Amino acid sequence: MDIPALNQLCRHYHALLIHSDEESISIAVVGAPQEALLDALRFTVNKRIHIECWSEERLEKAFNQHSAQTAGDDAPVTGQVDNILTQAVQRRASDIHIEPGAENLSVRLRIDGVLQPLLSLPAELAAGIATRLKVAAELDIAERRLPQDGQFSRELAEKSVTFRISTLPCCYGEKIVLRLQEQEARPLSLAALGMPPHALEAYRRALACPQGLILVTGPTGSGKTITLYSGLNALNTPQVNISSVEDPVEIALPGINQTRVNPRAGLDYQTILRALLRQDPDVIMIGEIRDRETAEIAVKAAQTGHLVLATLHTNSTTETLIRLQQMGISGWMIASALRLIVAQRLARRLCPRCRRQCPAQEDNTSSSEGAHLNHWQAGGCEHCYSGFYGRIALFETLIIDGPLKRAIASDAGVAAIELLAQEQGMETLHQCGTHAVGEGLTTQEELLRVLGYGGGY
Ligand SMILES: [Zn+2]
Repeated sequence: MDIPALNQLCRHYHALLIHSDEESISIAVVGAPQEALLDALRFTVNKRIHIECWSEERLEKAFNQHSAQTAGDDAPVTGQVDNILTQAVQRRASDIHIEPGAENLSVRLRIDGVLQPLLSLPAELAAGIATRLKVAAELDIAERRLPQDGQFSRELAEKSVTFRISTLPCCYGEKIVLRLQEQEARPLSLAALGMPPHALEAYRRALACPQGLILVTGPTGSGKTITLYSGLNALNTPQVNISSVEDPVEIALPGINQTRVNPRAGLDYQTILRALLRQDPDVIMIGEIRDRETAEIAVKAAQTGHLVLATLHTNSTTETLIRLQQMGISGWMIASALRLIVAQRLARRLCPRCRRQCPAQEDNTSSSEGAHLNHWQAGGCEHCYSGFYGRIALFETLIIDGPLKRAIASDAGVAAIELLAQEQGMETLHQCGTHAVGEGLTTQEELLRVLGYGGGY
């Protein structure tokens, strides 16, 4: 077996071939090597096998370097497509961007919320790669002037991965974006969300209520779905009927009746909600409240004996109340149905191996006077992406009770509600982020990137 084939075999089992000579080969793996890999190696190479145990980060980094070296090869289209998809899975990417330009075809991966260049390929490959991906998703390959979307699944690195594909005609050809769907059953526990203790307690208490509305808010990619799924998972027992309406179903949860919105078939949020309300539900999850009608159904269901969990596309907890009112839901309806609003963001986590501490400095952005914050800076090493690896979640939770409930019912303005929230001791997203900066989990710059000047200040 030649070296490229050996490389490919190892890669298939999420291992890296480090060395090969006459008598032995060395491979690197995370944890214990898979039996199937050892069997395959024993079968194909009649040599001693040395195994090195590496960290996930180190292996990921080594894969990156390895692919950068082989990127220049004029591998055929199929090889490049397989390479791109495999790389995306191994690097934990959420999206793949394949962009034709005048001179070349650029491939970037979104990792931990930020795009990172992966490859630059000859422009001639653009059409072939686009066709290949469109065939996989059963799209119309002759149609290059209109956007299309679809999906396909592949077995990669021992797991089945589903890609949602969308095409868009641009100046130099079709730009293709692939979104990776989560297939791996990751632990969906409330404790794993990384909520501060008081926020976790508030979420637990709201979930324990027999009826009411819990809203999780934030922009796309802020981790809302995982927060909702973890909540549903905590409620998931044989004694309750949990139904969800989603667009699309992001993770299949055993024991939960998940229905996907399908506009082409005339199946929208409202239609599904009305149908599932006739199915004796206890808990209802609404993927996203986008319009007045869905908001009304959610609020009414929450007032009539159902626990309703939903997401809303707003920036903060107080903005959420305003949005609901703008959707035409009256203050007293909101006050009587709503139990809890969680606003959240994901910020990149500083790499613990290369972060650098800066001297303590005056914190100008915080309202607390004279606060001294330890600031950390992103370094950059072989284990991370320019100083960051993975993400942390930031939370802001607003509990709707007492004076706040009365204020909402009497249509109080934003200022009055924000004041009451402060009196309640609500930690804003910015305050939550500032703690994370102080603990060296992320940086001030990253906080600014995620929250902007407007969010949570
Ligand atoms: Zn690092």
